[in-house]
Amino acid sequence: MRNDVVIIGGGPAGLLLASLLQQQGIRYRILERGKAAQSWRNMRQGMMLLSPSVPGTDWTSLTFDRPLWSIPGTKRPFPSREDFLCYIESFVRENRIRVEDNTLAMRARPAPGGFSIETVKGEVEGRFLVIATGGAFEPAFPDVHGIAENPAVVHSADFIDCMAYSGKRMLVVGGGNSAAELAIGLAGTAASVTLCTRNPLSYFSVSAQLDDVRGSSESLLKELIKFRIIKVREADPPLALDGGSVRFASGETESFDCVLCATGYRPGWLPVEGDGVRADADGFPLISPTGESTVPGLYFIGSLARFHRRCAFIHGFRNYVEKVLWDITDKA
Ligand SMILES: Cc1cc2nc3c(=O)[nH]c(=O)nc-3n(C[C@H](O)[C@H](O)[C@H](O)COP(=O)(O)OP(=O)(O)OC[C@H]3O[C@@H](n4cnc5c(N)ncnc54)[C@H](O)[C@@H]3O)c2cc1C
Repeated sequence: MRNDVVIIGGGPAGLLLASLLQQQGIRYRILERGKAAQSWRNMRQGMMLLSPSVPGTDWTSLTFDRPLWSIPGTKRPFPSREDFLCYIESFVRENRIRVEDNTLAMRARPAPGGFSIETVKGEVEGRFLVIATGGAFEPAFPDVHGIAENPAVVHSADFIDCMAYSGKRMLVVGGGNSAAELAIGLAGTAASVTLCTRNPLSYFSVSAQLDDVRGSSESLLKELIKFRIIKVREADPPLALDGGSVRFASGETESFDCVLCATGYRPGWLPVEGDGVRADADGFPLISPTGESTVPGLYFIGSLARFHRRCAFIHGFRNYVEKVLWDITDKA
């Protein structure tokens, strides 16, 4: 076997592990289907991160040796997607991480002495395999019959810019940060904006719960709701759709030009042959306290590895990447 570790996914978690392996002199390959941090490149231009990045409350940097806020021009409480991508670029460059771009991994299988990974560029072999492909495997839609195929429906994953919906009657479905930011962005551009949520809207300033952080958008959202520039259907989710005509839980029906679902993602990963990786009830892989899956030698890191709930975010998972490093180092 030529490589000690093969990492699939060059997002924040994969890049962090690559830098740590490099420091320890452990040979690795990092396979990325696009370019480093491709998931972030695909996100909306101008999007704000909802994790702050300032000295003392730095939830966004991968390490504290060279944090995001130390890059000239990016010292603000909530960095933008562009700030974050600049940080990733410099992290890759300064740590001399060799990301193999445009190398989609299609499947993996246990092989003598490790794993064999089939990629678009051929077979790659490694003793340990680390899957770092992120928690946003496929868009999740509300549980409404036929919603994903309805031409009036768009998922936030495919949303490019508010201008595309200029003058339209928009329904934004979801109660999280993406729904809040999209509703705010559409206000003033669309003919009307309705935000509909499954549960009562909750705010960080009231609950102090991380799930309720709305980045920099909480006060603006509240103001737009007060001015009725954004109309809210709180705890009134859609039950049925007929084109753009939506029937809500309240029994009311209303017509929209477009239904925008900011309803998150489902976890998943590439197929692993053999006995396979066992998952929990939410679809996340079952892992040991050091990130090893039910297939010995196969690890998960990043937002796909739920050591605890905060691992959906960088500040939640970054310390756990080190646990995987030390487990592999012990066994190497
Ligand atoms: C809209 C949105 C906003 C978010 N905002 C924040 C935030 O403000 N703060 C925060 O901490 N977190 C935020 N997150 C969560 C964020 O995605 C994670 O914190 C972080 O990006 C996860 O890092 P990761 O490396 O685990 O996965 P990802 O960043 O998803 O990286 C996975 C990488 O794997 C690559 N890949 C996938 N499949 C393959 C394959 N088969 N072969 C090769 N490469 C593959 C992808 O191209 C990607 O580069 C947000 C998520 C979303 C969807």
